[in-house]
Amino acid sequence: MIRAKVDDDLCCGCGPCEEICPEVFYIDGIARVLVDIVPLESEAKCRQAADACPTGAITIETVSEERVERGT
Ligand code: SF4
Repeated sequence: MIRAKVDDDLCCGCGPCEEICPEVFYIDGIARVLVDIVPLESEAKCRQAADACPTGAITIETVSEERVERGT
């Protein structure tokens, strides 16, 4: 499982992340992450969005099922 984060200081609101993976990213001036845990079927697109981000604002974190159950 993965979780996506956007660094507000790096994001310029340019939009490729939303175009590539609208299930996870939404532009509201800058990019917002819509989900806590990225749905399995969207993981590949989420990683593509991170790769496409021109400022490196998107970080992908791998989350274990155990941590999800604990809410950490
Ligand atoms: Fe922000 Fe990167 Fe998305 Fe552009 S692609 S809106 S810089 S997170």
